[in-house]
Amino acid sequence: MNVKIIKSLKKIYISIPSFNCQNCHQCCGPIIWFEPEEILIKDYLIKKKINRIIWTKEEFKHNKMRCPYIINDKCIIYPVRPIVCRLQGNISDLKCKLSTNCKLMSQNELNFIREEFIKLIKQTNGINILYSTYKPEYESVP
Ligand code: SF4
Ligand code: SF4
Repeated sequence: MNVKIIKSLKKIYISIPSFNCQNCHQCCGPIIWFEPEEILIKDYLIKKKINRIIWTKEEFKHNKMRCPYIINDKCIIYPVRPIVCRLQGNISDLKCKLSTNCKLMSQNELNFIREEFIKLIKQTNGINILYSTYKPEYESVP
């Protein structure tokens, strides 16, 4: 993938404050990501020799809609987890379910991320398709 796109994506990741997450996974439901993130995740899985996990709709239901990347109570793609996971505990819509003391990002910080994300979407032109783990056929969402 275009190095510039990866750089922009990582710029967004870095700008999201790291949260003192207790790894309880209470917030790990179905996740969405877009194609550059999908490629980062795939590359990571290949590098780590981890098989890609694909659940059926029934398996999702059985696993209470959680993300399939929680293995042995651990996120196995943590270094490349998508933006939505990084925002957990950092924004009011995705408050931490465990801690009542999480520090939410300021409006300026959020605006910066939004602007960078819009720039990235423009830059990716055609590879900005959103994916979701909760799709029975795991195809791109139009
Ligand atoms: S609920 Fe809070 S502590 Fe638990 S995994 Fe999510 S962000 Fe971390
Ligand atoms: S990618 Fe990791 S942090 Fe995100 S929902 Fe899945 S297990 Fe949780």
